[in-house]
Amino acid sequence: MFVFYVLVVYILATFFWWSTLHVQKNKQIFQDQIALMQLQYEKQGKDPQTVFESAQYLAIEDKLNKQNMMICGEGLVFLLLLGMGIFKIHSGFRKELMLNRQQRNFLLSITHELKSPLAGIKLALQTITKRKLSEENQTRLLNNSLKDSERLQNLVNNLLMAAKLDGEDIVFAKEQHNVGNLLHSILDKFTPHSSFKRNFQIDIAPNLFVKGDRTALTSVFLNLIENAIKYSQEGDTVGVSVFQKNQKLYVEISDTGIGVPDNEKKKIFKKFYRVGNEDTRKTKGTGLGLFIVKQLVEKHGGRIVLKDNQPKGSIFCMEFPLLKVANKPAVSPSENKGIDWELRNAS
Ligand code: ADP
Repeated sequence: MFVFYVLVVYILATFFWWSTLHVQKNKQIFQDQIALMQLQYEKQGKDPQTVFESAQYLAIEDKLNKQNMMICGEGLVFLLLLGMGIFKIHSGFRKELMLNRQQRNFLLSITHELKSPLAGIKLALQTITKRKLSEENQTRLLNNSLKDSERLQNLVNNLLMAAKLDGEDIVFAKEQHNVGNLLHSILDKFTPHSSFKRNFQIDIAPNLFVKGDRTALTSVFLNLIENAIKYSQEGDTVGVSVFQKNQKLYVEISDTGIGVPDNEKKKIFKKFYRVGNEDTRKTKGTGLGLFIVKQLVEKHGGRIVLKDNQPKGSIFCMEFPLLKVANKPAVSPSENKGIDWELRNAS
């Protein structure tokens, strides 16, 4: 970058120097021509001052003005093109630097994300095979391994999905899904009795349907709920609400966690983007989750925006086209889970 800026300064300085020199040379030639004409006038016995009224003088002056105008005009075009070139090269450099930083961050985070669950599973299996454990301890170790393998599976799914979204147009299934049911099946993994220790506030209107791919929609909601937990602390609130307004379906996933600064709100949806630096960041991740979420929501005809929660935290609001279902089924037991969840949380 330093060499580039030195080059830019050099080009500009050279350009101004040559332009000034050109103008000065033209002026010099003009003055020489006038002096020559005055000499000729003197030889012919005319008053040299009358040169300035002659048609020849006016023609030479007109030519000088035109040449100066041409230098200025061409100079401006050159400066404009140079400015555009400098801007393009500068933004290219910046993009490359950012990509390098993201690539480094991604490699560091993916290594950690792969290593730690694998190490956890290996250790648990070694302990089970080498030691005689009580049934309770054995179950605890197996449950932990199961969680680690789920973490690995989610990571691999995210990587595959990101790769797919990068490629050619993917065609998603267009099936009818009850959003409440989908969310409850995901939320069942994060029960209040588990180690997550978040205060879940669930408010899901029943019988709201969306058209799309089950795996993709699950990935959207799972990524957002996992983030709400990841970027909040013990005792914080994680909210999930589903409602309908103006023939649109709204899904909001909120938390009272660390929140996202205004200048990062758009950037976090970019691929591999993570707030802060990998060396200083406490939470682990790959920066793929929200990229996938945004792409998938948009591929389902929806949109996602990030708002600030009050008094702190974030709300990820999604809007989907509401699917009209002719004969809405009666509220199924699984749809009733919304109420069940709220009761469980309140108690
Ligand atoms: P990852 O969580 O793997 O880093 P994501 O794409 O899911 O990747 O998120 C990108 C970044 O957005 C995160 O690194 C984090 O800084 C920020 N972020 C995402 N969700 C939240 C949230 N609920 N609260 C605060 N920050 C968030």
